Amino acid sequence: MQIKAAVVRERSGPFVIDTLDLCDPRPEELIVRVVATGMCQTDLHGRDGYFASPYPGVYGHEGAGVVHAVGAAVRDFEPGDHVVMSFPWCGACPNCRQHRLSYCVRSRGLKMRGTRADGSTLLSKDGAAVYGAFFQQSSFGTCALTQERYAVKVRKDAPLEILGPLACSGQTGAGAVLNVMKPEPGDSVAVFGVGAVGLSALMAAKIAGCDPIIAVDVHASRLALARELGATHTIDHNGSSKVVDEVRAIAPGGVRYSADTSALPAVLREAIESLTPGGTCVLLGSARRGNEVSIEIPFLQDGRILRGVIQGESTPKELIPQLVDFVMENKFPIQKMIKFYDFADINLAAHESSSGAAIKPVLRMPAFAG
Ligand SMILES: [Zn+2]
Ligand SMILES: [Zn+2]
Repeated sequence: MQIKAAVVRERSGPFVIDTLDLCDPRPEELIVRVVATGMCQTDLHGRDGYFASPYPGVYGHEGAGVVHAVGAAVRDFEPGDHVVMSFPWCGACPNCRQHRLSYCVRSRGLKMRGTRADGSTLLSKDGAAVYGAFFQQSSFGTCALTQERYAVKVRKDAPLEILGPLACSGQTGAGAVLNVMKPEPGDSVAVFGVGAVGLSALMAAKIAGCDPIIAVDVHASRLALARELGATHTIDHNGSSKVVDEVRAIAPGGVRYSADTSALPAVLREAIESLTPGGTCVLLGSARRGNEVSIEIPFLQDGRILRGVIQGESTPKELIPQLVDFVMENKFPIQKMIKFYDFADINLAAHESSSGAAIKPVLRMPAFAG
């Protein structure tokens, strides 16, 4: 079938909307008519060659839409179902067998190689391969092909056009709190960097009953939004070289939990140094190779934990429907961080994502005539 998709032809090149051929689904696959898709920095890192994905490529990994066609072996979905497409995993490696899906040892290839696991491509232009299958979905198109096991059915009364970001930034932030920190009501938490991931963590901290909830950022507008979404205190990182002291003034002795979404070594160190003895810092941001952080050994010795978390350590078919319920109960008002763009304005969305003008760009797809 023919679709429209945003193709990047060379490293750091523009997104160009083009007509492509999408292959038929295999028995375990679905074709989803994309209604809207979030844009995440990882898409732009893909465009810019960070993962050595081949060109021409199609990106996008926060797609939400309606099932258009199902393969012969698909049992849990039928055309018309509303779905969010989430991250891929192999199902066979030691981590997948322990149901630690976000740490699948084959995930990088499945996300970034531009093909199915067996190397086959999904998209073509005049018979020449186009590398889609980004996160096994490539949602920057009017239709996307994914596997049944990566698709999450969502309730039909929820507004699909805001649900795509739950697939990555939403569950990354919320899962870090609900699956990893598992705070008790009244536990203190500090979130360093309140973009889409940090705000999702903060909303989850509020749901869990954390207090205080401290937001740290350099953008005054984001701190204001953080307050609206549940932060009890905000710290403007711009004017302060004493962020750790400020956190400790709000939470005497330090916070029980901290999260860093910036992956900047100096900020990650502050997130660690804000911890009380026995506290846990989770790293949610991603940095390029070569970045290091140093920690004072006696400080870590006091039972403090530093650990990385991918995709909120979630099982998407469990966490995403739960987050959709929170959205419908207005406990997870993700729409407040979203800025919508027409698909045709994808390059503007990318620019405003990088500049910080948009916290979470969401592209609305044109009506699909297929
Ligand atoms: Zn695996
Ligand atoms: Zn992402």
